Amino acid sequence: MKKNIGIIVIIALLLTSFSASAYFYVQAHEAKRQVESLSGEREELQSQKAELAEEIGTLTQQLEEANNKSSNPQTTKTNGTADKKDTNTQGTANSNTTGTTSGEKVVYLTFDDGPSNLTPEVLDLLDQYHAKATFFVVHSNDDSYKTYLSEIVKRGHTLALHSYSHDYGKIYASADAFLKDFTQLDDWVAEETGLHPKLYRFPGGSTKGGKSMVNAIIGNMTAKGYQYYDWNVSSGDGNAKTTTLDIIANVCDNVKSHSEPVVLMHDSAGKGNTLAALPTILRNLSAEGYTFSSLNETMKPVQFNH
Ligand code: ZN
Repeated sequence: MKKNIGIIVIIALLLTSFSASAYFYVQAHEAKRQVESLSGEREELQSQKAELAEEIGTLTQQLEEANNKSSNPQTTKTNGTADKKDTNTQGTANSNTTGTTSGEKVVYLTFDDGPSNLTPEVLDLLDQYHAKATFFVVHSNDDSYKTYLSEIVKRGHTLALHSYSHDYGKIYASADAFLKDFTQLDDWVAEETGLHPKLYRFPGGSTKGGKSMVNAIIGNMTAKGYQYYDWNVSSGDGNAKTTTLDIIANVCDNVKSHSEPVVLMHDSAGKGNTLAALPTILRNLSAEGYTFSSLNETMKPVQFNH
């Protein structure tokens, strides 16, 4: 009997010991799992921290560019409206375009506010993709940029008129003020290229000025043979906060909504994000079967509803 009790005690002790071991094993395993989980979270947070640091770097750079731009006498004559250039994204343009009847997929890229130091790179990228585009130019005091006007024409693109001063306060003060500014630009472009382009774009789009004044301007310009062009896709690059990825998405996603997409972009100084986005835009849309053409006088232009 004593022997049996002894065996039972031993078995009980063994079971207790085994249970304790199992318990501690589970506890240790759980602790290890928690450590691994925390380590994973730490890595993820470090990765997020790196991404945020990169984003802060980009934003800081954009802020510096914006500050430089507003402290540059050449562009401050726009009375602080430099950063608001063509941010009109109303997207209310009519769809009465001439349309391509052959079912071709065509994109009309347009670059406003150049020429600038970015223009030669834009031209080279367009060449790489056999793309034609339209440049709505503004006057530049930098003599070295003048030659880009002829280069735009030589490479087969459409040279078009935008504004001499791009100063909203000045040009939209009256129809006469607008027309005077426009004539100044026309003279400058003719002096440099010998050409009088008949396509033009209102700074900020054709709804930027007052309705009656804009109608007076349009009446005057149309009588002289000029035709204005708005846009139906905005790259969003008029806003300094728009990232390269946003520009790519804005263009590549929205061209699909229009039979004749006319895309607003800028090749003015400081539009590095636009330049960075351009190769991907050209590559992606080419891969989707699009070709890139320049606007011409014979097509019915995209214009905002007034
Ligand atoms: Zn503009």
